[in-house]
Amino acid sequence: MSKIRQDDLITSIADSLQYISYYHPKDYIQALGRAYELEESPAAKDAIAQILTNSRMCAEGHRPICQDTGIVTVFVRVGMDVQWDGATMGVTDMINEGVRRAYLHPDNKLRASILMDPAGLRKNTKDNTPAVIHYEIVPGCTVEIDIAAKGGGSENKTKFVMLNPSDSIVDWVLKTVPLMGAGWCPPGMLGIGIGGTAEKAMVMAKEALMEEIDIHELIARGPQNRVEELRVELYEKVNALGIGAQGLGGLATVLDVKIKDYPTHAASLPVAMIPNCAATRHVHFTLDGSGPAVLEVPKLEDWPDVTWTPSSAATRVDLNSVTREEVATWKPGQTLLLNGKMLTGRDAAHKRMVDMLNKGEKLPVDFAGRFIYYVGPVDAVRDEIIGPAGPTTATRMDKFTEQVLAETGLLGMIGKAERGPAGIDAIKKHQSVYLMAVGGAAYLVSKAIKASRVVGFADLGMEGIYEFDVVDMPVTVAVDSNGTSVHATAPKEWQAKIGKIPVAEV
Ligand code: SF4
Repeated sequence: MSKIRQDDLITSIADSLQYISYYHPKDYIQALGRAYELEESPAAKDAIAQILTNSRMCAEGHRPICQDTGIVTVFVRVGMDVQWDGATMGVTDMINEGVRRAYLHPDNKLRASILMDPAGLRKNTKDNTPAVIHYEIVPGCTVEIDIAAKGGGSENKTKFVMLNPSDSIVDWVLKTVPLMGAGWCPPGMLGIGIGGTAEKAMVMAKEALMEEIDIHELIARGPQNRVEELRVELYEKVNALGIGAQGLGGLATVLDVKIKDYPTHAASLPVAMIPNCAATRHVHFTLDGSGPAVLEVPKLEDWPDVTWTPSSAATRVDLNSVTREEVATWKPGQTLLLNGKMLTGRDAAHKRMVDMLNKGEKLPVDFAGRFIYYVGPVDAVRDEIIGPAGPTTATRMDKFTEQVLAETGLLGMIGKAERGPAGIDAIKKHQSVYLMAVGGAAYLVSKAIKASRVVGFADLGMEGIYEFDVVDMPVTVAVDSNGTSVHATAPKEWQAKIGKIPVAEV
């Protein structure tokens, strides 16, 4: 029998969320370091260098790896012989109190991304509560916790299928991963749940992502059962798709594939797949009554010796004087260093702008000839100008793009991952351009922002319109003014170069 104190659980939850906001797991960093060494695609190698450099900066500066500091997901295994010493709250309330303390920590305030009334008002709870919690009652006298902060961009790419028992899981995964685009910020991991029922497969896929990256050890010793064979086969074949870091084409799309399985009905083969992104954030601890969890501080030597610096081959752009003619000379895959003033805006600002345009109202800012950055930054702390400020998924803005380009004279956009057909058509029609920044390099990007002020929709908080003044902010031309998308061309090119999976003609 052990007695667990309420405060020990609350403190452990708060400490672990602060910890994972700025420390990548060591296994992820080391796997990404190996991927960097092996990567042959210059664009993907540059993106991995940004993620690694960002990671070390966050570890040193104790600031979030990504501006999306995630939805808290907790797996709790409560020993049947545990007693809660003088508890005044239920365990769920204790965990949510820990989340609240972590996200409101004054020295490293994390972005509150959780909205209540999801199908209605979508009102921010302001402290990132509640967490999503899964409980299991197990023999023993400890409380074991796996805790993660899962980014929305990768969570949104979750897939589920009820296959026929005779269908191939490998075929489904290889058909489905390219459809996920790059909004899940690869290189990351795939968590796959096979069997059980629909909801059981989903929970297993999420829980699988809590495991350590060890595919290299598995390949070295050889698979010993069907699940291990499947892991190796999927790891090799998904990487042979050539998607690469940030979808820029390359060798490293996944650093591991994790699988959990469970007995299922004779008529069913449920399969769930959840990706984990460049901001892979999770930690594990056990409470045994002796006090709060002690989390080991990683050593800086654990990070690979990789430091991203602006490439001498990159083109410097002055946003204060850039013209449509200059934009038309940019080629897909070209790297640019942006300098000067840009505006920001994401989902809520776009919705409001379009509503105002439809009513014939004047927008708070003149967008003519300007660039907009799709971002929702973390609040600044200490002497920062802005908190981590990486790009958000651009496809969510596709449905607004035609109207915004047509009616405001906006010149270009900056975001994360690919554009969809509606966005690309609008870019081509208006001779615009779409640039992508690296998802998962938010703190590194924020260091390029030298001034920031709110210029519209201040009530939207992190979703308002800011004006940033940037110096050498690194981006890649993802859709040029002719509508050619690097996310469509580069993975095919790398799939052909890798040569293990034939490229289908469309
Ligand atoms: S790395 Fe990408 S998917 Fe992950 S939290 Fe950040 S923006 Fe979202």
